[in-house]
Amino acid sequence: MRSRSLSCVHSPGFLLALLCALAPPARALETASIPFTDRACATIEPSSAEAQAIQQSLQEPSATESGLGGVVQVALHVIWNGVDGAITDAQVEEQIEELNEDFSGASGGWDTGYRFVLTSVDRTLDANWFDLAMGSNNERRMKEALAVDPLHHVNVYTARISALGWSSFPWDIAEDDVHQGIVIHYGSVPGGAITNFNLGRTLTHEMGHYFGLFHVFFTGCLEPNDYVSDTPAEAQATTGCPPDSTDTCSSMPGVDPIHNYLDYSYDACYSQFTAGQDARMDGMLQTYRPHFLAAPLAVDSPRASRDASLWPVIPTPSTRSAKLVFALRREGKVTLRVHDLAGRVVATLVDGILPAGHYTQVFAPSGGASGVYFAVLTAEGEHVAQRLVLTR
Ligand SMILES: [Zn+2]
Repeated sequence: MRSRSLSCVHSPGFLLALLCALAPPARALETASIPFTDRACATIEPSSAEAQAIQQSLQEPSATESGLGGVVQVALHVIWNGVDGAITDAQVEEQIEELNEDFSGASGGWDTGYRFVLTSVDRTLDANWFDLAMGSNNERRMKEALAVDPLHHVNVYTARISALGWSSFPWDIAEDDVHQGIVIHYGSVPGGAITNFNLGRTLTHEMGHYFGLFHVFFTGCLEPNDYVSDTPAEAQATTGCPPDSTDTCSSMPGVDPIHNYLDYSYDACYSQFTAGQDARMDGMLQTYRPHFLAAPLAVDSPRASRDASLWPVIPTPSTRSAKLVFALRREGKVTLRVHDLAGRVVATLVDGILPAGHYTQVFAPSGGASGVYFAVLTAEGEHVAQRLVLTR
């Protein structure tokens, strides 16, 4: 039996009760833990020769590093078997928040400039797809049935798999091919049942692969390692969360990058991407996924002040309403206002003290007036702005 329903997260108004009735019940978190002693990532890395060829094909980012980044649209597909796998809408939202924190440096590392917005959630009851094997006919059929516009979305599937996750690489597959995407274990999302791997950072790790990053231990203590110059070499995958002084390639510079999202450490041990990894991701997307970002590379990148960031409005133009996504690095007085081209305030969406975090507000002018507007975010006296275009 297969049944689908829209998510309750994005179903406004009248239909909400009906749609929620069709959706799987919001279940209490499962208490039985799912055993994984080590991070098991099933993403298949290329041979050294292939990796070298890929490296040579890579275009240099065309703009300065700090200007790159953009908005990534996530289409999430929850697969369940009628008993297990029904992660809640709240867990889905927390998973996207975790991605944004990790890619923005809020957890400690480099701000990559990439931000993630959830554009759809669907739920499929199918026991065969739920117990999914990598490379199987079931995986192929599932992706062919469910993938949302892969040219402009990363499709993420949650299922019960023998690994924590796997991903396609950008060079693996044409940018509009439905067979790309990321599969993660449903127990790896925030609040999931996999001890030590349930903060949602499995998806951060797999997203790194999706953007073209290798494991930091790719060629061990041999050059070129992971083709990223600022991730020190590491002899093998890290287990758990060893001391910061751990150094398995002692003849090479630096200690093991045990906190890097592309190592195998516990979720709680993870805290960083590096500037070099960011540059590789930029080059990969530019080379292999030029249509992927909702806001193009080096254009309309997040506007940031010392305390706040405001992301480009997507889609452009928006129909009748527009979603504004912003983040605060610390608690403070914040306003978010929308102005028309004459500078008049047409909407005040936020005015008050807010704690640090990620926020979403919707601008929907009465009567659905079309036109060009500016959203201005003010945090502790500093302004950042984005343009938005509405059509009827
Ligand atoms: Zn991996």
